[in-house]
Amino acid sequence: MTDSRSSRDEGVDQPVHSQDTGQPTLTVDGLAAYLECPRKFQFAHERSLRTPPDDTAVDRLELLRIAICDGLRWAATTDDAAPDDPEQLIRRMQDRLRTLWEGHSERFHSAVQRRHERRVMEATIEAYVDHCGIDHLEGITSLSTQSTARELIGPTLPVATTVQIGHNVPDEEQSAPDHRSTARLTAEIDYATVDGSTIVGVKLLPTPAHLGLLRYRNRWDGDVEQEFRDHFDSESETFDPGLVSSLFEISVVLGGLRTLRDQLNLDSVRTCRYVQVPLLDRQDRTVNRFRDQISVDIESIDLTDRYLDHHTFGLTHEHRNRTVDDRLQTIAGRAIDAEYEPVPWELIRRESCSDCPYSVCCSDYIEGEVRFDGK
Ligand code: SF4
Repeated sequence: MTDSRSSRDEGVDQPVHSQDTGQPTLTVDGLAAYLECPRKFQFAHERSLRTPPDDTAVDRLELLRIAICDGLRWAATTDDAAPDDPEQLIRRMQDRLRTLWEGHSERFHSAVQRRHERRVMEATIEAYVDHCGIDHLEGITSLSTQSTARELIGPTLPVATTVQIGHNVPDEEQSAPDHRSTARLTAEIDYATVDGSTIVGVKLLPTPAHLGLLRYRNRWDGDVEQEFRDHFDSESETFDPGLVSSLFEISVVLGGLRTLRDQLNLDSVRTCRYVQVPLLDRQDRTVNRFRDQISVDIESIDLTDRYLDHHTFGLTHEHRNRTVDDRLQTIAGRAIDAEYEPVPWELIRRESCSDCPYSVCCSDYIEGEVRFDGK
């Protein structure tokens, strides 16, 4: 398998306390785990229990992320490169992929299958460049005139934003310099580009399956908002941590891009957007074995409008959503305050426990099962 993995690939990420500032830091993956079950978050965080990564898709995605980002970096920073030549960019990325593939130790049934899978990934690179790669490179090149392109291309480009978490500070400590009422929330994208006056954070992913309802809706108003509100409504049976954590992630990435914009003095940038590009969705792949042809379709997903609340946008002129951001602060505060009780218990037991890798050592689950059996 490939050496380098993103932290998401290692299972649940962990909140850490920054050594230099004392400001608590929480990743979006940690938030996602907390939403599924606070106890699960505790296992991953305090007891450092980790879940095995989903190896095959993760490793192949890793190869593509490295090949794509190295190709973009080369094209944006090398004098010989022709930024408007898609064939040259495709060749560069595919050459990088072949080099990485030689060191890729995934087991295949046969040499034919191994070759076939490599060709699928080469076709994926071609589809990526045709769909958005050249446009993104143009934006990266434009950004590099205002900043250093190297700073904006990963893979794994961390972005971070600071939020108020309403942490209860003891009275005697109120006068001291205090970072505990704020938290640093982090996410990872693969690169940043610009489109006009908008900075765009791009993340390369295996599939869009994790988006659930967000995959099929293009705005916040309507059932996305309703589902989000219902998740937190104690009267409702709705439990959708995937949708909520995706909206939290969008909020963190957009906040991180605003921070990046300000740190790099990108004066021409006004707004931020977050785009995910699924690369390994089998539904987007066509294989004609008789003609020995492989074609891949890629559809990027701009998540910004799924999150954007026009009322908040009208007030701030920034892509924000007060409903989501307020909940984000509350949940981050609870995670940092070590509130690990698995509530709402019945919904967690119904929706999260069956797939949880910690069920064998979780006393909440074991006791719940005993009660359920009536023994
Ligand atoms: S088994 Fe259930 S209660 Fe226990 S950590 Fe996992 S999801 Fe939470």
